[in-house]
Amino acid sequence: MVTTDPAALTELVSRGGVLALTGAGLSTESGIPDYRGADGQRRFQPMTAQELLADPTARQRYWARSYVGWPRFAAAEPNPGHLAVAALQQAGLIGPIITQNVDGLHQAAGADDVAELHGSLTHVVCMHCGERYERTMVDDWLQLANPDFDRSATGPLRPDGDVAIAESLIGDFRLVHCVICGSDLLKPDVVMFGESVPKDLVEQCFARVQAARAILVLGSSLAVMSGYRFIRRAVRDGIPVAVVTHGWTRATDEEVSIRIDAPLGSTLLSLAETLAGRRAS
Ligand SMILES: [Zn+2]
Repeated sequence: MVTTDPAALTELVSRGGVLALTGAGLSTESGIPDYRGADGQRRFQPMTAQELLADPTARQRYWARSYVGWPRFAAAEPNPGHLAVAALQQAGLIGPIITQNVDGLHQAAGADDVAELHGSLTHVVCMHCGERYERTMVDDWLQLANPDFDRSATGPLRPDGDVAIAESLIGDFRLVHCVICGSDLLKPDVVMFGESVPKDLVEQCFARVQAARAILVLGSSLAVMSGYRFIRRAVRDGIPVAVVTHGWTRATDEEVSIRIDAPLGSTLLSLAETLAGRRAS
């Protein structure tokens, strides 16, 4: 029987051993939009890894948009939801965190033991030789290669950290090259659409799920199998699943014991405060 009572969530988390599975809905209050609206429909068509690899024009388009978006993406700060998760982890109630987000905001909020299922935009990888670079370094190279490029386009930031810009600007954008092998096949170190999560990481995450006392899904619609399969595994093993998400989720009432449809930041802040108050008294 599924309940929507916040008190049930408080009870579940107070017993500890909780694994948090987090998605884009946790970061929207930090100004990073979700791929999906509250209705579950995808609002953006992201570039696939195959497109990026196959076509130098696609790489120009990707990197020009990403170059414009990066200062804003890099400036995003953890919101009360991230801070509450970190506080609950420090209190020993939440253990490991599995995130679908590529923004590093859990770590910025002070959380550790974070498995980044889809990688992180903080690094760039050469698809030719495998060398990894810090994004800030690649950004310096891009600035040197594009001294006259206007970076101040004001379009909305998109979920993968880029900004749609005029086509006329894209043709002038100069790509940079891997300093090890000279290739221009540089890609953000994230799992792009059309790629799969590394197998060993998936196996580690399954093991963490099976060791948990409960699973707390935060801000994920579970629309993609990369996150949903962990819920299927928990259900199979009789581990309770609670979902706090604003809007549609794929998880059914048979799979979920607690379901709260509410803004993440205020809900998690209130949960963390209630539990901190109990421990203090
Ligand atoms: Zn290389």
